[in-house]
Amino acid sequence: MPELPEVEAVRRKLNREITGAVIAAAHLVRRPDRKLESRLRGRRIESVTRRGKNLLLELSGGAVLRVHLEMTGNLYTIADARRRPATTRAWLELDGGRALVLDDPRALGRLELLSVEQAEQLDASLGFEPVAREFTPQRLAELARASRAPAKLFLMDQKRISGLGNIYAAEALFRAGIHPAKPANRLSRQRIERLYRAIVEVLDVAIQSTCNAYSGPGRFDAGETFPLAVYGREGMPCPRCRQRIRRIRQAGRSTYFCPGCQR
Ligand SMILES: [Zn+2]
Repeated sequence: MPELPEVEAVRRKLNREITGAVIAAAHLVRRPDRKLESRLRGRRIESVTRRGKNLLLELSGGAVLRVHLEMTGNLYTIADARRRPATTRAWLELDGGRALVLDDPRALGRLELLSVEQAEQLDASLGFEPVAREFTPQRLAELARASRAPAKLFLMDQKRISGLGNIYAAEALFRAGIHPAKPANRLSRQRIERLYRAIVEVLDVAIQSTCNAYSGPGRFDAGETFPLAVYGREGMPCPRCRQRIRRIRQAGRSTYFCPGCQR
């Protein structure tokens, strides 16, 4: 599943490629919707932004096209619209025969047109952007103080912090030396500051890695170089203390951690 770094890599690439382009026509292949198609036609793409894992194409005339990639979706441009992949769920005709394609083998990705007010509501419903300036150690401390949830679930709650998923929550806790089951409100101020630095570092490295690797359409992981210390490494030695990485279940999902380094 694309996490925040992958979605951010897609955003940066698209923002360079399609800002200023005009939508000549829209085609919703999966669920044809003539009304939506005609509302998209003729609008100019002003910029591509992101909120949590939502890609937001800000359009002329006061509308925002929201795309959520869900499990298998990808959004990219192709030079020749006629060469769309078979798994295209929606596509926009741009200038010079180019197309913006929502390619999604499992067809779970979502696409909807929001008014500016609806986009503001979406913004208000999501937690802090962990890569934005508004996210500070102080903010993290305030959020943690108000939550008895285990640290890992606390980090993944999108109403508190937006866009931190299973992989990077586990990696941030490892870097901060915090046990995933430790209640958030019992973390000392010092440990909160370590956790803050770990979150920012992990996302920074992950975004760089994904941006470098995002060379071709439809590939999220080819060539990514983010060093996973614990995620998916059950039974393997911890890179720091050599104890075996353990896996536990939290809210139905796997959590990986080092019993030696994380308390
Ligand atoms: Zn360890």
